[in-house]
Amino acid sequence: MHQMTLAEIARGLADKKFSSEELTKVLLARIAQLDPQLNSFISLTEDLALQQAKAADARRANGESGALLGAPIAHKDLFCTQGIRTSCGSKMLDNFKAPYDATVVAKLAAAGAVTLGKTNMDEFAMGSANESSYYGAVKNPWNLEHVPGGSSGGSAAAVAARLLPAATATDTGGSIRQPAAFTNLTGLKPTYGRVSRWGMIAYASSLDQGGPLARTAEDCAILLQGMAGFDANDSTSIDEPVPDYSASLNSSLQGLRIGVPKEYFSAGLDPRIAELIHNSIKELEKLGAVIKEISLPNMQHAIPAYYVIAPAEASSNLSRFDGVRFGYRCEDPKNLIDLYKRSRGEGFGPEVQRRIMVGAYALSAGYYDAYYLKAQKIRRLVKNDFMAAFNEVDIILGPTTPNPAWKLGAKNSDPVAAYLEDVYTITANLAGLPGLSMPAGFVDGLPVGVQLLAPYFQEGRLLNVAHQYQLNTDWHTRTPTGF
Ligand code: GLN
Repeated sequence: MHQMTLAEIARGLADKKFSSEELTKVLLARIAQLDPQLNSFISLTEDLALQQAKAADARRANGESGALLGAPIAHKDLFCTQGIRTSCGSKMLDNFKAPYDATVVAKLAAAGAVTLGKTNMDEFAMGSANESSYYGAVKNPWNLEHVPGGSSGGSAAAVAARLLPAATATDTGGSIRQPAAFTNLTGLKPTYGRVSRWGMIAYASSLDQGGPLARTAEDCAILLQGMAGFDANDSTSIDEPVPDYSASLNSSLQGLRIGVPKEYFSAGLDPRIAELIHNSIKELEKLGAVIKEISLPNMQHAIPAYYVIAPAEASSNLSRFDGVRFGYRCEDPKNLIDLYKRSRGEGFGPEVQRRIMVGAYALSAGYYDAYYLKAQKIRRLVKNDFMAAFNEVDIILGPTTPNPAWKLGAKNSDPVAAYLEDVYTITANLAGLPGLSMPAGFVDGLPVGVQLLAPYFQEGRLLNVAHQYQLNTDWHTRTPTGF
């Protein structure tokens, strides 16, 4: 039962082959048995799950239908869940029970999804390895000595290990696509403004975007359908109609123009990954796509720009965690300043503190023009590169990551080494574009992802290309041994 995709579950529930309650019990038992090896959950919500499953079964018995009605999922632990711990992977919020549901959580619950729990993540979504979590590192089910990617490492490891079919995640600089690549999943970062950020704890507000992590493009379409849409509570939400994503999956790729940026195949890319990317290009050519070499000349500036803008926004967003209004407060403060200092010093881990310091520095008078303003100018150049490219092509294709998942601890002493691994993903966030990662093969037994980028609001096109690719390849069906 645990091998089923969301689409298969929807068919099975509709055909009354099993109930949501039965499936939920199977998956909760599987989580209890296998998750101790992975550490992919911060909180389990068994009671809520069984209650939601029974309610979904009752709705189906009353004649209701819907792809998410009775479907088990989990939420990355930065989506606020009313009355349930919402920790953001931090000691700072270890005792925080959200007073309301995030829009994404409310929408999926209304569609009948069953929440099994809250998944582990890098602290405040800062990281690429899920090693900065207060709740400990998450292991990659493909090799327990390796990281699952981050910051949505818990959602990725849980779905890859077949503990559940799909989960929500967020992507500020790659945190949906990179863990998808590292664990052989399909993950989609929507256009900025497509999915509401209301109740999604902010890391870098102009970059953050929620999206689905699942095994197939077909399942990403189902989950995205439940997440996307205008929300008056989020001032950056965009009032565009949400298309039927599942209906877009079956278009032919005949004549689809795919751009392959020459900058993607530089010295930093593992040549074995380059070969797998070329194989996926050949596969798409067989399906009728036309390949064109393009250029994204400002790509080389994207990492330094991102690692100024994201920490700058983080330093501002995280100022609300002051020991007074939310979460952790130090013991016996001597005075107000001592309370602030020690609550933040004890509540935040080292990576979060590093980013707050970098961000506060970049925003300070005298350095603002040299760093923050300059980074914003680079951001515009990166966007302009994409706009020029999308005049010539429909999709941009390349690797999701330059290397496969590294060993746990391998980059702990060198944060910049980890930042450099984000080279292919962060440009989509800087430009606000949608991006998808899908399985493309293996290197040393570790999964490799191919990334597709599309113009604004063309999530349907990304899902279409990925679905057609998955109808003709079987990488996405491979299961990690032991799970
Ligand atoms: N690795 C990037 C960072 O640490 C991206 C994280 C994310 O997308 N949340 O900022």
